[in-house]
Amino acid sequence: MALYNTLTREVERVDPILPGEVSLYTCGPTVYNYAHIGNLRTFLFQDLLKRTLQGLGYRVRHCMNITDVEDKIIRDSQQGLPPDADNPARHAAMEALTARYTAAFFEDLESVAIPREGFTFLPRATAYIPQMVSLIQRLEARGLAYAREGSVYFRIQGFPEYGRLARLDREGMLAGASVDADEYDRDSVQDFVLWKAARPGEPWWESPWGAGRPGWHIECSAMGLELLGERIDIHSGGVDLVFPHHENEIAQSEGCIGHPWVRCWVHGEFLLVEGQKMSKSLGNFFTLRDLVERGHDPLAFRYAILSNHYRKLLNFSMEGLRGAKAALDRIRAFRRRMEGNGESSGDGAWKEALDPLGRLAQARQAFWDALADDLNTPEALASLFTLVTDLNAQDDRLPLTREERDRVLAFLEEADGVFACWPADASVEDLEVAALVESRRAAKGARNWAEADRIREQLRARGIILEDRKDGSTAWHRA
Ligand code: AMP
Ligand code: ZN
Repeated sequence: MALYNTLTREVERVDPILPGEVSLYTCGPTVYNYAHIGNLRTFLFQDLLKRTLQGLGYRVRHCMNITDVEDKIIRDSQQGLPPDADNPARHAAMEALTARYTAAFFEDLESVAIPREGFTFLPRATAYIPQMVSLIQRLEARGLAYAREGSVYFRIQGFPEYGRLARLDREGMLAGASVDADEYDRDSVQDFVLWKAARPGEPWWESPWGAGRPGWHIECSAMGLELLGERIDIHSGGVDLVFPHHENEIAQSEGCIGHPWVRCWVHGEFLLVEGQKMSKSLGNFFTLRDLVERGHDPLAFRYAILSNHYRKLLNFSMEGLRGAKAALDRIRAFRRRMEGNGESSGDGAWKEALDPLGRLAQARQAFWDALADDLNTPEALASLFTLVTDLNAQDDRLPLTREERDRVLAFLEEADGVFACWPADASVEDLEVAALVESRRAAKGARNWAEADRIREQLRARGIILEDRKDGSTAWHRA
């Protein structure tokens, strides 16, 4: 398996530290709102990476954190509280917000075929405060951190490697100046905050420096070191995390352990919507729920993302999504065709040498070669579509035998282990029903009763009976 390593700016072979096993750390969501489809692009690319490694025979130890304490979370969760609210009340408000959006996040992942069970570790940052404190203390002991007015900062001048990942110009760095915010850009290369002194109106934890809370960057270092250890094969996030987040993670972790931490840094490109950066004011901001409400199949979204190379900017559009659905339907239809037995419509005189199994072997090889080459999904899918075209044509003339069909089905199943977009027939229908039930729920939420009834009727016509439960959920069964 070869991957583009941001550290070296080259495509390199992945040689895991432990033979046959890859450790993978991916920066997880900040749970103060629903994930948008740009976030989901990054999580889908990481799922693709994991499934490809698994398909190539590696065991993967995957850790994804949940960022449940951070500037934006605090801002949003503390809004409704009286100024004199005590610390437990402030924590409770923060936890209520993060619990709600953590649950929503896993629902979204489930809809795009990223199962929770696929993660080895899903740590919440707030459960690792002691590890963060001890990491900061170790940095202090090594002269790489200093306290000031109850906050603690990382001293970038003490870490000569600082800036290597993001290729920063060390000359331009501001010695001695410090920055408190979790997010900042290249113009503010300064000592960054590890621990923030509590300000009025914020939840806090006790620490050797007084009441405060961790900075965002230290969270991932502490959880990564604790759960995956001092040598990690792959660490990943979206390109916006290269600087400052990952640069800072390297400084904190390596400053503490004294040797390289992560072998390969892999970053996914951004998703744009209709050519622009998503923003609420432009009206091009979408969550997965928005797409589902408009009647889109979440797996078509998954396919739309995965069919593009992860290192290319992706311009998302509704038209692109419909195109993805059409491509996916071709594969699904081919799968159904192979499940059936086929009838000979030809005259049997068609004697040209057919070699479906040879074609299959070729396509399978090309498929895995493409994925192993820095996750080249466009090429992997191209080999699959050539197979679909060729075998459809062959099957028209002289039906494939049962054995040949089963071998083709086995490959489709194997390929779906990575793409997870064309599950066996019954479950495709289940997914469509689930998507419609979800649209109806959204319509009801918007008090659009006519639409909700229309969807109920549409499902009834397909023999699906809905049953609304007291807890607000909807169950369904076949008539
Ligand atoms: P956050 O929840 O903001 O911490 O982001 C979660 C992940 O989504 C990070 O890995 C980000 O790099 C990634 N991300 C944020 N915006 C986009 C976008 N428009 N396209 C792709 N990935 C994104
Ligand atoms: Zn991180």
